[in-house]
Amino acid sequence: MSYSNLFQNIDTWLISKDNVNLLPKQKWIQAIVLYEVQDYSIFRTEGGEELNTEEILIDNEKISFPVLLGRKLKAAQRRTGHSLLRNYIQDYECSFETTEGGVTGLCKECAECFLRGAAGGEKDYNIQSRVYYSAYYCVEPENIITSLITRNAIDDKVKVTGAALTSNQVVKPFAHFPAIFSLYSVTKEELIYFLKTVNRARRIGARITEGGYLKPYSVALIGYKFELVSPLKLSLYIYKKIKDKITLVSTEEIVKYAQDFVNDIVQKYKSVNVYTLDFLNEAENVNDSELVNDLNSIVKTYLNQVQEVNK
Ligand SMILES: [Zn+2]
Repeated sequence: MSYSNLFQNIDTWLISKDNVNLLPKQKWIQAIVLYEVQDYSIFRTEGGEELNTEEILIDNEKISFPVLLGRKLKAAQRRTGHSLLRNYIQDYECSFETTEGGVTGLCKECAECFLRGAAGGEKDYNIQSRVYYSAYYCVEPENIITSLITRNAIDDKVKVTGAALTSNQVVKPFAHFPAIFSLYSVTKEELIYFLKTVNRARRIGARITEGGYLKPYSVALIGYKFELVSPLKLSLYIYKKIKDKITLVSTEEIVKYAQDFVNDIVQKYKSVNVYTLDFLNEAENVNDSELVNDLNSIVKTYLNQVQEVNK
């Protein structure tokens, strides 16, 4: 196996491929990523027209920050995972469709379903997700990092600008969102697959055919018995570090601050492991087809166990 050397120092917090079990062990990997917005982006809830924001009390002052909801990232990563597996598995038919009756189309028999969970449909079992998402807070305040864009329609016949159609509050380029994904009781194969979907799902939010390009940067992988770091605390820490030089701070500097925060926290615990090299790139360098083969054998083990339970 060509990737057994990857992320070796967090191995104790991963499940060995020969030991996979539907029953989880107390092993967590927190994957911390910094998103750099490289385009105008619209982050809002379905049906709502307003940008998601949250007011946070900092030193007796309420400051509003844009918020990126974890389920936006989950949906984009899941679709990316489906298309990755579809490249290598013949007759792969797992997909994510939402209907009035709920979600349909998930096969409950693939690496994506076993990792990110699957409910509904015809099969009489559900799979709980082993990836946990949160809300992610921009480190730049709303009043600095957002603007209002109005869309006009141009009348084709008379070539004049028509009435304003809609106004959208957008997050501007070079906004930064630190995100933390917590993976519970996963194998190295599943972790690498997950990181590939993080790295490749780069269009996030509404109207993504016209904007919403986000680039993820590796911050740290943390292996421990439970989740150590929360996205809210991480964003507030960074905001306090950069608030006097906002818009003058590079993405690399923010990655450094995020790593400082992680190191401060993990120092208090024994036997925690941290990996701060460019894990997104390293996961990307693992051969897709070889990885999918290994994932398929893991899925077989899970499926055998499901059948045993349902006997
Ligand atoms: Zn599936």
